[in-house]
Amino acid sequence: MSKVHNYSAGPCILPQEVFQEASNAVLDFNNSGLSILEISHRSPDFVAVMEEARQLVKDILKVPEGYTVLFLQGGASTGFLTAAYNMLTTNGKAAYVNTGSWSTKAIKEAKKLGNADEIASSADKNFNYIPKNYDIPAGADYLHLTSNNTIFGTQIKMFPKTDVPVLCDMSSDIFSREINVADFDLIYAGAQKNLGPAGATLYIVKESVFQKSGRDIPSMLDLEIHHKKDSMFNTPPVYSVYVSMLNLRYMIKQGGLAAMQKKAEQRAELIYREIERNPLFEAAVPDIEDRSKMNATFVLKDEVHKDRFDLLVKEARINGLKGHRSVGGYRASMYNALPVDSVQVLVETMQELEKGA
Ligand SMILES: *Cc1c(COP(=O)(O)O)cnc(C)c1O
Repeated sequence: MSKVHNYSAGPCILPQEVFQEASNAVLDFNNSGLSILEISHRSPDFVAVMEEARQLVKDILKVPEGYTVLFLQGGASTGFLTAAYNMLTTNGKAAYVNTGSWSTKAIKEAKKLGNADEIASSADKNFNYIPKNYDIPAGADYLHLTSNNTIFGTQIKMFPKTDVPVLCDMSSDIFSREINVADFDLIYAGAQKNLGPAGATLYIVKESVFQKSGRDIPSMLDLEIHHKKDSMFNTPPVYSVYVSMLNLRYMIKQGGLAAMQKKAEQRAELIYREIERNPLFEAAVPDIEDRSKMNATFVLKDEVHKDRFDLLVKEARINGLKGHRSVGGYRASMYNALPVDSVQVLVETMQELEKGA
């Protein structure tokens, strides 16, 4: 198979080694003569997978005591509602920072339950920056953030310091940089951006969150129920959890979070340097500090070059570079498994365009 440079925004690139092991397990899991796809999720072999996946998350992110790790269904989009159900009290208020389409959706879901106030927003400039220095209402049930804005290419580099419990949708940058889990009461992330195949959603929950809202929570959205059942309240997304576990093992073998962060910085440095240098291109996010290390968004200054650039991109076997329709232009999604070499190929393609222009 000749090499494709996969810039897909999600589901995204995973390591080849993980694909190899994952495909072996479809045919024969643990030399059992059975496929991972046809065994009971209550079998000791799968229970061991779930437990190892949960433990690896704790190890890699240095999750402190008093937190639980869950792999649930429903995607981060269900997380928007789950977060509110578990933490928004009936008469209370939640504070949301709106940094893009995903935050907007999170606010919409929370509003179905109660008071969800948008305390800051970057909608005025089509979400091309991260709002800063906003006031966080002291009595809020929680502050909700989106760490990385997959579509617009912005990323929170410094999380606000506050006594209000902080919740964060980390779908598209978890495991790409060091974080201090103790700063958050709840972290959630769809697996398919940096962890594994679509299907599982990761929750890292401070146990004091349980029963905080005082609501009668539907069982599938009740984080305490899932915790008490060791993330096996109902059939978990078995294969997604399994492949995520393989990828977590692989991350550790590569040097863990520090190594992931270093690679993310190398890739981001390469691509943004070229966007700055190349007279044909412009970054979609003006402030360097706010630029995402996972999703670099950029545009051609003059659309006359579009057809030729698209052709060069295709010839270089670069896949998934088209920007989201709400931003246009290009988006280089550079998740953990993307080799630095693939970024080099993109940079050379941009240079090739410049030469012919
Ligand atoms: C992709 C994405 C989502 C939506 O995830 P689903 O698992 O498809 O529901 C939410 N938030 C962010 C930041 C995302 O990148």
